[in-house]
Amino acid sequence: MRNELYIDGKWVAPVKGGTCEVINPATEEVMQTIASATAEDVDIAVKAARRAFDKDGWPKLSGAQRAKYLRAIADGIRSRQAEIARLEVIDNGKPFPEADWDVADAAGCFDYYAGLAELMDTNPEETIALADGRFTSKAVKEPIGVAGAIIPWNYPLLMASWKVAPALAAGCTIVLKPAELTSLTALELAAIADEAGLPPGVLNILTGSGSVAGQAIIDHKGVDKLAFTGSGPVGSKIMAAAARDIKRVSLELGGKSPFVVFDDADIERAVEWIMFGIFWNQGQVCSATSRVLVQDGIYERLLARLVEETDKIKIGNGLEEGVLLGPLVSKRQHDQVVAAIAAAKDAGATIACGGERPEGFDKGYYLQPTILTGVPLDSAAWTEEIFGPVVCVHPFETEEDAIALANDSRFGLAAAVMSKDDIRAERVAAAFRAGIVWINCSQPTFTEAPWGGYKESGIGRELGRWGLENYLETKQITKYASEDPWGWYIK
Ligand code: NAD
Repeated sequence: MRNELYIDGKWVAPVKGGTCEVINPATEEVMQTIASATAEDVDIAVKAARRAFDKDGWPKLSGAQRAKYLRAIADGIRSRQAEIARLEVIDNGKPFPEADWDVADAAGCFDYYAGLAELMDTNPEETIALADGRFTSKAVKEPIGVAGAIIPWNYPLLMASWKVAPALAAGCTIVLKPAELTSLTALELAAIADEAGLPPGVLNILTGSGSVAGQAIIDHKGVDKLAFTGSGPVGSKIMAAAARDIKRVSLELGGKSPFVVFDDADIERAVEWIMFGIFWNQGQVCSATSRVLVQDGIYERLLARLVEETDKIKIGNGLEEGVLLGPLVSKRQHDQVVAAIAAAKDAGATIACGGERPEGFDKGYYLQPTILTGVPLDSAAWTEEIFGPVVCVHPFETEEDAIALANDSRFGLAAAVMSKDDIRAERVAAAFRAGIVWINCSQPTFTEAPWGGYKESGIGRELGRWGLENYLETKQITKYASEDPWGWYIK
């Protein structure tokens, strides 16, 4: 396994030689160490990315030329899909089929942005209709410059792809720092990009801590744009750092997303989507629908079925066949989720199922999938992101109540509604104050569709054409096209 930094097209040891341990969350074993970059390494990487952008001509390539590299990266990912998925499992803990899905999605993301890069050639400018006929004007899109990208540990390769693919498609160069807990697949991405022949300096991947390497990226004057996915408090620091020299910034932060189930919904389908919405990836999903609101008429029956099915979930090492819930990513994350459950209990909530370390697991950061009821609406369990397999289920009476409860949050990443009444579902979807809304499902994510949050869940959108826009500036070019002199000073 790799343990160096990928800077300027080369594998290098960090200038100061620091390392960080990589722990398998299923076994608690230290698997290897990886390099821990410092500000010196970041400076070298940013300078390489600057040179690749300012002098070497990456932004001057046609979209089709950049697309070739992106497609080669997509092919490289696919050619090692199972191997990369396995690395994701031992690094992050998720079940293999989920990791395999993520890796396929990551390859798809590079293909998709290759397509958008090609479109940039066919559609390079927009003519602006001016009221003053003596002028012609057009708007052109240009890459912002050097992007600094910082990502979390819950979807390691996929989050890297959501940043790297659109940045490269747009013509930006990039310095990426994966989360210190899960860096292995980002290093594989660097190796794949290298094999694809990506020019030196265009993509730089540095492992290291947030407080040192991450901080150095956000503070670096040579970085033009910051793209971040992670927690609210760090997002806030990044926005403050960006404000100092007006860096462009996009933030994908946390959530406490509601899932409203009306009493005309099919209970079995609702239970399936509720489980998918909170137990997928051990609930470590920014858009997890962790507040489930169920209409009175079906509340008891739905809850009983949800508990019954949740109790059947197979827990184990993500590499084992049939496992649907792996360990949480780290001891720290595990302890935080356990503490959040204890605090919910202290606040008066009832544990309908789960809440404990599963039997037979002495090692590994395992936790039973957990359902909480009677959660006080002013308690942290209801208002704060837990980022684990913990769902709060709460009854409601009317559509109005459901919308008010759903929107009563400082977050606004996602929201879901389930009803057989299409008109009602659409009405509720329109009323949600959230950037991503699902009707009769929860969590399906498409590279083509915009992704991002309202309120404290972030700023800007990733994926789709919006993801490309994140890395583009808009330039106005206006020409005086009249034969007559302007005649203001010189008559
Ligand atoms: P985190 O904010 O602690 O870390 C995210 C990244 O930021 C890591 O790479 C970390 O090293 C880096 N970082 C930490 N301090 C930094 C600093 N001072 N300067 C620069 N970088 C710094 O988050 P996490 O614990 O890795 O991830 C969990 C959080 O991320 C959850 O709150 C979750 O909701 C959120 N998340 C959001 C999305 C989304 O799309 N909206 C996706 C995944 C995770």
